[in-house]
Amino acid sequence: MFKRLLIANRGEIAVRIIRCCREMEIEPVAVYSTADREALHVQLASQAVCIGPPKAADSYLNMPNLLEAARATGCDAVHPGFGFLSENSEFARLCTECGLRFVGPPASVIDAMGNKAAARRLMKAHGVPVVPGSEGRVDTAEEAVRLAEQLGYPVLVKAAAGGGGRGMRRAYSADELPAAFRTAQAEALSCFGDGEMYLEKLIVNPRHIEFQILADSHGHVVHLGERDCSIQRKNQKLMEEAPSKALTPSLREAMGQAAVEAARAAGYQSAGTVEFVLDGQGHFYFIEMNTRIQVEHPVTEMVTGLDLIREQIRIAAGQPLSVKQEEVRLHGHAIECRINAEDPAADFRPGAGTVSFLHLPGGCGVRVDSALYTGCTLSPFYDSMIAKVIVHAPTRLEAIRRMRRALEELVVEGVATNAELAHLILYHPDYIKGAYDTGFIGQHLDELLKWSAAGKENP
Ligand code: ADP
Ligand code: ADP
Ligand code: MG
Repeated sequence: MFKRLLIANRGEIAVRIIRCCREMEIEPVAVYSTADREALHVQLASQAVCIGPPKAADSYLNMPNLLEAARATGCDAVHPGFGFLSENSEFARLCTECGLRFVGPPASVIDAMGNKAAARRLMKAHGVPVVPGSEGRVDTAEEAVRLAEQLGYPVLVKAAAGGGGRGMRRAYSADELPAAFRTAQAEALSCFGDGEMYLEKLIVNPRHIEFQILADSHGHVVHLGERDCSIQRKNQKLMEEAPSKALTPSLREAMGQAAVEAARAAGYQSAGTVEFVLDGQGHFYFIEMNTRIQVEHPVTEMVTGLDLIREQIRIAAGQPLSVKQEEVRLHGHAIECRINAEDPAADFRPGAGTVSFLHLPGGCGVRVDSALYTGCTLSPFYDSMIAKVIVHAPTRLEAIRRMRRALEELVVEGVATNAELAHLILYHPDYIKGAYDTGFIGQHLDELLKWSAAGKENP
């Protein structure tokens, strides 16, 4: 097993990985930008190395500085977390060339799945159902219009390098498509430095169902069931749960098998996620594979009892999976709410500043993954997700009740958060019934914001 592991990340995921290292008796080494000197991940690590100024491009994305930090501290492995360099094949390759184990799949696999248009082709060739769409890249708006005539509207223009819900635009007619193509491409160029586009049929208000998989270097591949991530705003997840109300046991079996097939087709190793959209008729379609640990992984940990970061580290060290498919059991129900420092009443404007007072929920079946503490500062340079509240209970309804009370206990003073919005969603009849899809926030946001405003008028 590794002796010392460098965590090339910050925030709650860095803290999550540090905690796992402690339990595995691996020394965790943190890195930080000058904006993060006082950050919790720096305080909890065995050692911490400054890697540059606040801008991510100069610090958390600075490969030479990260590799030098690993060398100088005598690390034998690097965990990239999520975001930042986690899906950067060059970084994975450089780690390996420097004699460091990269906790993730081989660079060639990141390459194969990182281009979403190419990943679609690979999946199709292996019999995994993909959303009807272009065979590969689409270079011009005119080509997109020609293709959309065959596919039928509505369509979705997507960036091959896309992530975090960016670089995609819908078009409901040929009139709208050229503008959608150009805005999606411009966004892709500015966010990812890559303007390669492809086209998919827009599945109207599907559910986002993803499968967690684990694959080791000995040819074992298992899936750990699904997560329903359909509560999304602007194609970004807000709340996730497992299991999904939308899946029957036979659909779970079929989708799980497709996810395992997808991982095998990619030659996958490590923890990964195969994402699907599921339409109202029970048809599911591959949309992408994320070759990293995912934000919402704790939901799966709660229902399976497995520690996914530990599995990732074990796999990277050449050890076999600690479970076989037939040993995977799903217990109860888990829900996660992402707490973001953003104000829903002000069009989700992200906030920065000092957390003047903090109280985190606890008690039976409640887990909080966060790097917050009273007095910590939130800098504007990084992602606005500041905490994840996760609950586990025997049934879905009990999990909903538990999450309501957990959010009622949560106090974050000094910055606005979306916690109240999540709390209100937990009272929405369609949410309670489990009758929601990716259109939920779009359809109900105004109503939820009115509930929120009314609550403030009549305390
Ligand atoms: P996930 O698929 O793990 O749920 P998301 O789809 O929300 O995550 O986001 C995709 C990835 O982009 C995640 O790894 C997330 O951490 C990362 N990400 C999103 N926004 C930012 C940002 N501003 N800075 C760094 N990483 C980001
Ligand atoms: P990202 O890499 O940004 O996570 P994804 O391809 O995973 O991009 O898509 C993000 C979200 O956009 C999905 O969770 C889903 O809600 C929506 N989406 C993506 N493709 C489609 C599609 N073909 N039809 C309908 N919704 C889609
Ligand atoms: Mg996705």
